[in-house]
Amino acid sequence: MLEVEDLTMRYGELVALESVTLDARPGEIVAVLGPSGAGKSTLLRLITGLTRPSSGSISLSGRPIQKEASWRRNIALVHESYVLYPHMSVTENMAFPLKSREAPREYSDQEITERISEVAKVLEIDLLLERQPHELSGGQRQRVALGRALVREPAVLLLDEPISHLDAKLRNWLRGELRRRLSAAPWPTLWATPDGFEALAVADRVAVLRAGQILQFDEPQEIFDRPVGVGVAEVSGTPPMNVLPGELIADPLGVKVAGAPEPLPLVRPTQIDSLPAGEVSIGVRPFALRIVRPGDAGSSTPASVLACEYSGRHTVISVRLEHETLRLLEAGQHNIPVNEPVLIAWDGAEVSIFSREASCAGALEFQTTVGSNEHRAAPSSEQPVQTG
Ligand code: ADP
Ligand code: MG
Repeated sequence: MLEVEDLTMRYGELVALESVTLDARPGEIVAVLGPSGAGKSTLLRLITGLTRPSSGSISLSGRPIQKEASWRRNIALVHESYVLYPHMSVTENMAFPLKSREAPREYSDQEITERISEVAKVLEIDLLLERQPHELSGGQRQRVALGRALVREPAVLLLDEPISHLDAKLRNWLRGELRRRLSAAPWPTLWATPDGFEALAVADRVAVLRAGQILQFDEPQEIFDRPVGVGVAEVSGTPPMNVLPGELIADPLGVKVAGAPEPLPLVRPTQIDSLPAGEVSIGVRPFALRIVRPGDAGSSTPASVLACEYSGRHTVISVRLEHETLRLLEAGQHNIPVNEPVLIAWDGAEVSIFSREASCAGALEFQTTVGSNEHRAAPSSEQPVQTG
């Protein structure tokens, strides 16, 4: 069990990590999801001991390690920049950690060969084993760096954007393959990525990191269904949740959105008193929006088409609504001309309301009164305010 508590890292004035607390159990994959500069690599480097934290603690199976030398920790890190030993072949690079004095046990030559050959097949580098790093492409080098970590038996495995430089086919294959292997491993894995889809797909829990702070640490479905704020809502889903400004109206309960002819009605929540009055941020998933024909039942909002992106079963349609751009998912292929006026319906939508100033707390869930509620997630009793 890896436990990180209240970890803070300052570089002069800059706070790269602020009071970060998370844990990971053996066989668990915890994704650290955040944009570039969020502090992902800093967090991983602190856990390895390559950098010392300004404050906070890190422990492994209850043993504090933050004062321990890096080499004693037996933590495997796959760097974002995947550095290899330049004068060693792929095989020698992968064998290196197993032959090192820092290895947790001794490995026979035969076992080393077997471990390398098995991992090399998974990573599709088995035909490259005799090559030198300079004879490899960037994606091949990344896989060798990954292989060097996967042959090991570390106390913790840290992966810093491990598959981001691979082509889509390999990335898809390795995402599942790594998940399968690491879920069966007796050590915890931390997987840093800027890709929300990858984080939700691969992890048992996701820590959403933004500007050095963890906004939410939860299971993928909670991150998707109940983001605690705009910062989380915007990183999950393909395409992610639309977030637009609006004004909450008390009676009849609804939200006013710029460009919409009338307020979007909301179901009255059970605890009306705790609603943030006035300006709010409204979150709507792309699949909860659709284009309707004039005269269709229910309220609709005029918009104009910006782009249609076909992706096989669906088309992502971007539309302009006064000052906001919204993206919605329609089944099948659609090729609506740019600037064509359309009507957007919100019926059946799951709408999240976030208070404007506290962007990382205070999400409320609503459902519009129009349409069916078949897409709606079951309410959670832990939510501070929940609609009926
Ligand atoms: P990520 O991996 O999520 O892209 P990093 O952990 O690399 O983010 O960086 C987090 C922040 O800390 C950034 O603002 C970065 O510029 C800063 N930073 C990282 N390393 C150093 C360093 N050695 N000295 C000063 N600032 C640093
Ligand atoms: Mg990084």
